[in-house]
Amino acid sequence: MNDTNKAELALEQGHVILPLRQSQRSLAYLAKRVAFLMLYAVNMATLGLFVYLVAPVTSFLAFNDIRFWRHIHQFHKLSYRMFTHTIALITNPTYSRAFRLAWLDAPRDAPDRSEVEVKQAWKLEHGESCDGCVHCCERIGCNLIDHERGGCMLYGSFFWRYFTCGPFPQNQFQIDYYQCPKWKAR
Ligand code: SF4
Ligand code: SF4
Repeated sequence: MNDTNKAELALEQGHVILPLRQSQRSLAYLAKRVAFLMLYAVNMATLGLFVYLVAPVTSFLAFNDIRFWRHIHQFHKLSYRMFTHTIALITNPTYSRAFRLAWLDAPRDAPDRSEVEVKQAWKLEHGESCDGCVHCCERIGCNLIDHERGGCMLYGSFFWRYFTCGPFPQNQFQIDYYQCPKWKAR
């Protein structure tokens, strides 16, 4: 789908497209992120209780599956990650700088190839995939790694696509901070 078609599709879906850079941007994306962060804040204020009170919503946002009974045993891990992430953002300036949230940008399930590219040496050995590597996730001690499948428990979910995991990496600072062996900035 070319950029014109993408813009038409977004307008049909009620998104307001802002003429910024090449990527699609919309106030609707900003609103969704803000709404998510409000739920995030309420959950922290209730010490992790809120995710259980809105279990189907939690399940959908984090696991891309409204059938919460399949994932509820993992909900405590979401709250734990919220607390550790928030504390790191407040106390660690380097972590905070590496956390770049493009509020208006469309959600992504892969990095923006106009910003980064796969290193040739990685491509020769592993192709385009991360090939089971979870180093960036381990680097920040994320407890949501799916060690059995060599990936993320939340892969493909709203949270994963709208925040920093899906679009990672976005720049050389992130690549260096997370010690990623695959990507380099263009
Ligand atoms: S992609 Fe990595 S850092 Fe992001 S939630 Fe999943 S395990 Fe954690
Ligand atoms: S460190 Fe790089 S290669 Fe490894 S999982 Fe993260 S993005 Fe993929």
